[in-house]
Parts: sequence; structure tokens; C-alpha cells
Amino acid sequence: MASKSVFKRIIDREIPADIVYEDGDCLAFRDINPQSPVHVVLIPKKEIADFQSVTTEDEAILGKLLMAVPRIAASLGLNNGFRLVLNNGRDAGQEVKHLHFHILAGRPFGWPPG
Ligand code: AMP
Repeated sequence: MASKSVFKRIIDREIPADIVYEDGDCLAFRDINPQSPVHVVLIPKKEIADFQSVTTEDEAILGKLLMAVPRIAASLGLNNGFRLVLNNGRDAGQEVKHLHFHILAGRPFGWPPG
């Protein structure tokens, strides 16, 4: 059996994380290597490797993830805005094969992204 991803281990409480939001389908925690003053990783509890792996069964979960974003932003006081990033696949630099959003805030961000 393939070994658990680091995010699955966080879901299963096998390794600690600084959790900022949780509901039945979603979990959000502070990134261990923050790229901005606020850097939160938001994941589905269901193990979905990437966007190509999403099925129509996952529609509700994707909706819940997106609906969690403004709640998390409000709870963290991100009143000056935030950037929502999803690295999908090798060229985008996806390291953890468990679908996730990055919520980045606390500094200005350039465009186009690097
Ligand atoms: P990505 O490159 O989009 O796959 O992002 C994976 C993110 O997970 C990186 O920003 C890592 O710093 C973060 N990360 C990896 N392990 C942990 C961990 N144990 N706790 C919190 N964040 C983590």
C-alpha cells in the first residue's frame, strides 16, 4: 500500500499542525514553510491527489472548500486581501499529492506569479 501523504497524516492527527479551521469535509492549517506573514493550507479531508482526479462526486467538497476560504480569511482578519493559489502538477510545483489551496496574505503579491 502506498504510504500516507503528509496531509493525510495531519488529518489523522499523526503529526501536529497549527489548525485554523475544520469542518466535516475540510481542514486548514498554517504552512510549515510560510511564503508570506499568513500562509494557510486548506485541504479536503477526502484524499484527492489533484484536479485531474476530481470526479462529479467531489462537487460538494470543492464547493465547501471554496466556501471555507472567506470564513478563514475573516477569522484571520485578512482585511487587506489574500491570494488563493493551487499548484496542480509538476510544472506548477505541486509537492504534496493531496489537492490543496494556499491562502497567502500579509504582504503585496506580484503579478504575473513566478
Ligand atoms: P505544494 O508545493 O503546492 O504541494 O505545497 C505543499 C505545501 O505543504 C508547502 O508549502 C509546504 O511547506 C507545506 N507543508 C509540507 N509539510 C507540511 C506540514 N507538516 N505542515 C504544514 N505544511 C506543510
